[in-house]
Amino acid sequence: MTMKGNFPIEKLKQIQTPFYYYDTALLRQTLEVVKKESEQYGYNVHYAVKANANAKLLKIIASYGLGADCVSGNEVQAAVDAGFAPSKIVFAGVGKTDWEINLALDNNIFCFNAESMPELEVINELAGAKGKKAKIELRINPNVDAHTHHYITTGLNENKFGFNLEDIDKVLNLMSTLKNLELIGVHFHIGSQITDFSSFQDLCVRVNELQDDFEAKNIKLKNINIGGGLGISYEHPNHFPIADFETYFRLFNKNLKLRDGQVLHCEPGRSVVAQCGSLITKVTYIKQGTSKKFAIVDAGMTDLIRPALYQAYHRIENITSNQQEDVYDVVGPICESSDVFQKEVNMNGTQRGDLIALRSAGAYGEIMASRYNLRNLPTGYLSEEL
Ligand SMILES: *Cc1c(COP(=O)(O)O)cnc(C)c1O
Repeated sequence: MTMKGNFPIEKLKQIQTPFYYYDTALLRQTLEVVKKESEQYGYNVHYAVKANANAKLLKIIASYGLGADCVSGNEVQAAVDAGFAPSKIVFAGVGKTDWEINLALDNNIFCFNAESMPELEVINELAGAKGKKAKIELRINPNVDAHTHHYITTGLNENKFGFNLEDIDKVLNLMSTLKNLELIGVHFHIGSQITDFSSFQDLCVRVNELQDDFEAKNIKLKNINIGGGLGISYEHPNHFPIADFETYFRLFNKNLKLRDGQVLHCEPGRSVVAQCGSLITKVTYIKQGTSKKFAIVDAGMTDLIRPALYQAYHRIENITSNQQEDVYDVVGPICESSDVFQKEVNMNGTQRGDLIALRSAGAYGEIMASRYNLRNLPTGYLSEEL
């Protein structure tokens, strides 16, 4: 086996572990693909900032002309600071507070993806106080199963996100009384790490039906936003370093019936940044158990919580050893039994001081780090600045 990622080992050895390492050449290649595949259909891409808000990465992503999808006031501010055009920023989230809405209004963002009737009323009031008209996409729950982990499916009914289909008439009635709002489209987001493309196909069918309903009510939608969710290969980051954007966009072009002048928007997060990032950690001890060996590393669930939170898999490579392979449970130092990155990992013979890479960690990694056990937050380093 042992195919490994490309790492500047000697440079990485100089850096205090644990840390995130971002291969910006791969990020740039990925962004080129996103641009090429989306632009041929005239689709607008908004990078989902919550996947990774490292300021230097945001600057690179913004430089490719993408928009930003934000879920908090601080994300809106970070996107503006990184150079994303406010006219390409969308703001979603079930619990937008007043200061966050005001910040977004002050920055004249593209639109609010609204998720409840009380939220619509509050945005209307705050926009009115500023003498502005706020643009709204209604986030609709299409009741499509994303066939992914239940913590990250969002498109089913009785989910806290979005409006349910049966409430749409009530919502439209309310909208017609709120004079400081302008309905510019509909928004969907069915889940994350979706690798079964039939879920996206189901979404297209729902959106087409919904469009017919809106037309029957004489309502024109300028924008259709299909959210994010495109999955990546956690198993084979070396073979599939770039997500299948080609198939993804082609699927929507083929299955979604856009009306004249309508613009399709999407919000990829994970698929843009996951593969360019690795968590680099040093082996502190090899501990011999009764029947297994533990590789105790200096990173833990505080640095990368996905394995503990979602039973997520990250490929693990010993990037400084070429010794014969052996089997290890790779665990962190945190005082929680769930602080296990992976059991029974095949990797090159491992010793104290070796560097280990947890691959595909660029999304929902650094940004979810915590200071539990009073640990330091990991720093992110870019390949192009080492
Ligand atoms: C999380 C999220 C995204 C990004 O999802 P990925 O699976 O990372 O592509 C996009 N839109 C919304 C509304 C989200 O909440």
